[in-house]
Amino acid sequence: MTRKNFEFLEVRREAPKERWAPERIEDFNEIQGNYSENKAKLQASRCLDCGNPYCQFQCPVQNYIPQWLKLVQQGRILEAAELSHQTNSLPEICGRVCPQDRLCEGSCTLDDDFGAVNIGAIEKYITDTAFEMGWEPQKPSIKPTGKTVAIIGAGPAGLACADILIQNGITPIVYDRYPQIGGLLSFGIPSFKLEKEVVEKRRKILEGMGVIFKLNTDIGRDIAFDDLYQNHDAVFIAVGTYNKVKASIPGENLAGVYQALDYLTNNNYYQMGLVDKKAHHNFYFERVVILGGGDTAMDCSRTAIRQEASSVYCAYRRHEKAMPGSYREVYKAKEEGVKFLWHHQPIEIIGKDKVEGVKFAKTELVQQENTGKMELKVIEDSEIIIPAERVVIAFGFKPNALSWLNDYQVKTDQSGRIIAKGANKHPFQTSDDKIFAGGDIRRGADLVVTAIFEGRSAAKSILNYLSA
Ligand SMILES: Cc1cc2nc3c(=O)[nH]c(=O)nc-3n(C[C@H](O)[C@H](O)[C@H](O)COP(=O)(O)OP(=O)(O)OC[C@H]3O[C@@H](n4cnc5c(N)ncnc54)[C@H](O)[C@@H]3O)c2cc1C
Ligand code: SF4
Repeated sequence: MTRKNFEFLEVRREAPKERWAPERIEDFNEIQGNYSENKAKLQASRCLDCGNPYCQFQCPVQNYIPQWLKLVQQGRILEAAELSHQTNSLPEICGRVCPQDRLCEGSCTLDDDFGAVNIGAIEKYITDTAFEMGWEPQKPSIKPTGKTVAIIGAGPAGLACADILIQNGITPIVYDRYPQIGGLLSFGIPSFKLEKEVVEKRRKILEGMGVIFKLNTDIGRDIAFDDLYQNHDAVFIAVGTYNKVKASIPGENLAGVYQALDYLTNNNYYQMGLVDKKAHHNFYFERVVILGGGDTAMDCSRTAIRQEASSVYCAYRRHEKAMPGSYREVYKAKEEGVKFLWHHQPIEIIGKDKVEGVKFAKTELVQQENTGKMELKVIEDSEIIIPAERVVIAFGFKPNALSWLNDYQVKTDQSGRIIAKGANKHPFQTSDDKIFAGGDIRRGADLVVTAIFEGRSAAKSILNYLSA
């Protein structure tokens, strides 16, 4: 029987059931459910198999999307899981947290008129279902070479690098200062987007394959970088970016002002039982203002809502359409009760010993006379104060200075990112042949899937270097 390929006309795009807002804000559990087998088949059948899979080109790890959609449609889940793992080390995680509207789904041929194929949800469905069926990625069949690589950072870049190395007979030893693997997957991203059991499951799989984790170990403090350099065949640096961008306005140091990542990490620690109630930054019954317009600002706003803050305002200096974050996240934040202040630029956090509010000036877009370009201008005498007991600054992250690298030939650019452009023809290699780098520390704060891409690519480059 020939396949029709017109299913998209009869079957509308349908996401897996999402818990409705009043219910989901009561806890920190994931808000999205999974497809039933029939729904997954039906949704996968919407793929046009268009021959020019823009979705695949736009996916940073170049997933074989049309191919695994076809396998799902045919009920061949284990083959779909095998195929999905050929290009992605953490598909169940990307399916949950990728901004699909800006990546694969945003470039699906059906996106504009019929609604894109629900690629992310199906990617999650494939691995979640395969795991439920007892499937696991194959154990490495290659004999260990005896070579070892030290990986600093157990975030997505470090994990993806470890995944490829172990499959090729190289033992990765992954060091992280946190007590659990995952980096921002565990300690940044809130569990209503990604439950921590998902990361724990992946840890077991990687350990089962032979990856060694050394957690609660801060390189540069607990172990000298030189020890790793001397005792391993190569080093991969995947330490992420943890230097928080300041608001640079008066009042920033008042009690009651938090940096976004400190706030989110603390709440994740609390959810994981790693800090007690006393040390928990809980905004229960407080008036909260979040400054920023990216996905991190949305995560903070939605966390404060779940902590039962009495009000949560999220303020951004430009218009809604100019927000750097994903529209999907803004929409969910609105559903959950976050109030938005567009065109509000913070100019002072006010208060004597502790925060009492935030002073904003309103802004507008004005066309420049000479160039015709639109420019953001503060409107005179437009100042207002929004009262608040808690303020969170979510203006992004830059790389930290890595003093332990000072004695090595590793160069950084003006913003502190490690330059690893592939000296001596090995991509992701720094100017020291033995040291490679990837993920946010190389490209600047970005996405889980781009960090995975960098980790996998760096591992392939390390393999070439070690076999040269
Ligand atoms: C709040 C928040 C929400 C986000 N939400 C999303 C999202 O929904 N979707 C998305 O695609 N992206 C999201 N991102 C971005 C994404 O999480 C990052 O781009 C990605 O995690 C980067 O991966 P990485 O491996 O380079 O670094 P990280 O995930 O930051 O991991 C680096 C690891 O290195 C460890 N480390 C650092 N220094 C040392 C040292 N000296 N010794 C030992 N260990 C060290 C750290 O403890 C950490 O575990 C979010 C980011 C934040 C902050
Ligand atoms: S990894 Fe991300 S971008 Fe690629 S197919 Fe999956 S959800 Fe889409």
